[in-house]
Amino acid sequence: MEKTLSIVKPDGVNKNLIGEVVKRFESAGLKVIAIKMAHLTKKQAEGFYAVHKERPFFGSLTTFMCSGPIVPMTLEGKDAIRKVRDIMGATNPKDAKAGTIRKDFADSIESNIVHGSDGTDTAAFEIGYFFNATEISRR
Ligand code: ADP
Ligand code: MG
Repeated sequence: MEKTLSIVKPDGVNKNLIGEVVKRFESAGLKVIAIKMAHLTKKQAEGFYAVHKERPFFGSLTTFMCSGPIVPMTLEGKDAIRKVRDIMGATNPKDAKAGTIRKDFADSIESNIVHGSDGTDTAAFEIGYFFNATEISRR
């Protein structure tokens, strides 16, 4: 069993896609084991995306990520990290495969509806960024 972090980004919340995103993950057999709504400060968005701080889009990305509420969630399942990334589609919606969330709903490479961790180390950091032990289901 593997855990990963996904986020419905401000554009996804604004477009009423919280349920749609959760439905696609659950339909793929992933379990939501933690979920909440949050609204990041600029500093908190910069902390979350610290790995991208040298990228030219860092300022714009972090401003976007604190522009409205978001819905972070922890998902658990076999190959959860890869499954979530497959369901999301490529970063740029123009390159995303048909039937992926980003192909179906994203407006641009930045406003692309959804986040998903890209590896086990980043998943552990990102889950811990939003959830403490009491906020995650132990079933
Ligand atoms: P992904 O979210 O697919 O893992 P990255 O980790 O490369 O993509 O980038 C993080 C986020 O930064 C993207 O989801 C997107 O919102 C934004 N982003 C990535 N590349 C660009 C770009 N060239 N211009 C603007 N925003 C970008
Ligand atoms: Mg990434």
